[in-house]
Amino acid sequence: MRIVLFGPPGVGKGSQARFLSEREGVAHISTGVLLRRAIRGGTEVGLQAKGYVEAGKLVPGALVRELAENAIEKVRLDRFVLDGYPRTIEQAEWLEEFLTGRGTELDTVLSLVVPPEVIIDRLSKRRVNRETGENYHLDFKPPPADVPEELIIQRKDDTPEAIMHRLEIYDEETHPVQAWYRERGMLQEIDGRGSFEDVYQLIRDAVLESDSKR
Ligand code: AMP
Repeated sequence: MRIVLFGPPGVGKGSQARFLSEREGVAHISTGVLLRRAIRGGTEVGLQAKGYVEAGKLVPGALVRELAENAIEKVRLDRFVLDGYPRTIEQAEWLEEFLTGRGTELDTVLSLVVPPEVIIDRLSKRRVNRETGENYHLDFKPPPADVPEELIIQRKDDTPEAIMHRLEIYDEETHPVQAWYRERGMLQEIDGRGSFEDVYQLIRDAVLESDSKR
């Protein structure tokens, strides 16, 4: 199970990758989570990335490449799900080069597809536990009553302006990456509109199908 989980911000990638990690034992690697952790920790990478992340802009590729490759190095090379990487064709080429250099390749690239109005709703109602990184949605998955209110925050890049900016960036830079994977016969599109469980079942079926073809 070497998977890239793909789709615009707010499509539910993070939640689904978490399910895959908890239920199938694959390592969940999210460059967004790694960057936010670096920012909180005040590391050199964090300091360099902060302005970009908070403005909803793509962080310079070399920074993210190092974070992603170091993270993949640390886990089993046959069981990982990448969430938020690659986001550009350049990053897709780096990833291919990195895996080929280790005698392996991706099994499948799953693209979660959801209409823009649903994305805007999901992101503006998203809240995050700043200690655990767990995501909530004010309507569908409200923060539990036993989690102290001060731990539940809204991400700085979940404001309407930053959301619009991230969707624009997605269209301009990230969408072509899907075409790149489609040309290579690796892309599977998943309808991301259903409940978390429904979407997870579609993802699991797609992953199992790609495993059975190998
Ligand atoms: P995410 O949590 O995946 O929505 O990522 C949050 C933010 O982190 C993005 O808006 C970017 O600023 C930055 N980021 C995450 N992954 C990447 C990447 N692969 N390339 C460049 N910037 C990234």
